Amino acid sequence: MQTAIQFDPLRLPPETEELRQEVRAFLADEISAGTFDPRIGLAGDSFNREFSRRVAKRGWIGMTWPKKYGGSERSQLDRYVVTEEFRAVTAPTWSHFVADRQSGPVILKFGSESLKDKILPGITNGDVCFAIGMSEPNSGSDLFAAAAKATKVEGGWRLNGTKVWTSTAHQAEYMIGLFRTSEPTKENRRHGLTQFVVDLSSDGITINPIIQMTGMHDFNEVVFDNVFVPDDHQLGEVDGAWKQATAELAYERSGPERFLETYYVLTAFIDAAKDDGIDMRTAEGVGRLVAQLHTLRRMSVSVAGMLEAGKEPVLEASIVKDAGTVWEQQLPAKVRALAAFTKREPTNDPDLDDIIDFALLQAPKFTIQGGTNEVLRGIIARGLGLR
Ligand SMILES: Cc1cc2nc3c(=O)[nH]c(=O)nc-3n(C[C@H](O)[C@H](O)[C@H](O)COP(=O)(O)OP(=O)(O)OC[C@H]3O[C@@H](n4cnc5c(N)ncnc54)[C@H](O)[C@@H]3O)c2cc1C
Repeated sequence: MQTAIQFDPLRLPPETEELRQEVRAFLADEISAGTFDPRIGLAGDSFNREFSRRVAKRGWIGMTWPKKYGGSERSQLDRYVVTEEFRAVTAPTWSHFVADRQSGPVILKFGSESLKDKILPGITNGDVCFAIGMSEPNSGSDLFAAAAKATKVEGGWRLNGTKVWTSTAHQAEYMIGLFRTSEPTKENRRHGLTQFVVDLSSDGITINPIIQMTGMHDFNEVVFDNVFVPDDHQLGEVDGAWKQATAELAYERSGPERFLETYYVLTAFIDAAKDDGIDMRTAEGVGRLVAQLHTLRRMSVSVAGMLEAGKEPVLEASIVKDAGTVWEQQLPAKVRALAAFTKREPTNDPDLDDIIDFALLQAPKFTIQGGTNEVLRGIIARGLGLR
């Protein structure tokens, strides 16, 4: 099926500026108090429950959700501003970010009323962290090959199997997991999967760490051995998880976190270059990077506006993630090259070198997590009617 790609032109409305100033003041106070280092925050402890609770007190977690579940009923554009400001200074949002971005919205849309009452206020208070349990050892890009199984029992389901690359599972209270509840049909190979909210403290769950090449422990292997989940933790229809995936992916793939992860390298370089006086070559190089960033931002704001308008801009979100992650992945190497062109050899600044080194180690993951860019390009091509 062919879909037109449409980026609705949109600027953030002036009312969001007041919120931006409020967020900046909050973050400046946190930085002064030593909560995190904005130059390289994610290398430190990006999971900070106390910080998340302070963010929650401002009403900035679940800010688009209904008030009855602890939300603030604000717009996607307000949420955009908060996310952007947090990312620009690498604030430690890991404890609440996934729940805010996608787990909460999925529960709001597909969860039972008892599940919403039980879980959503904990998220908006900053007390509850969520992990995403989609990938398995033999099912990554092809999610519909998932083999971890849920078997119906009295009052609920029993889970068996293994999930992998599960970010924050060792710190999270819950996971939204994708489990096989029936075999695929001949007509529909996507049939037969169901999503559940799994309490990660349940008996039968083993969480094994996987260390990244940065040396950080961000993700894990999660093994399920006859784990019980009650019926009211089921999300949406049995066997019908594929129908709920598209909206979730539009949320997951288009936000400013998809191009700002290494932004700290650019600001660190500009700060360092300013001390030496900026020559034409540096100015041209920085100008080029900022112009690219500006374009990505316009596209991402446009997707936020379309989500606010109730659309499901899946193709546009895929384009933002593809272009954005390639940009943030290349940024550390580009900044290193620019730094070498200036008076620094290679950068002549140990702090800047360390920052670039860390970002270079982080960079490969950006085009894999949340769906690889090759797979996104397949989705875009299909949307354009090219395959
Ligand atoms: C830092 C990080 C955090 C992550 N966190 C989570 C998480 O919290 N929860 C979770 O469930 N998963 C998580 N993942 C897993 C991630 O979603 C998968 O790694 C990703 O979807 C790719 O799956 P795979 O690793 O099995 O690779 P494969 O699917 O085996 O792909 C291998 C290669 O083949 C290419 N390829 C595969 N299929 C196609 C195709 N149809 N067309 C073209 N090329 C193709 C891919 O692009 C890739 O280059 C995380 C990954 C990373 C790196």
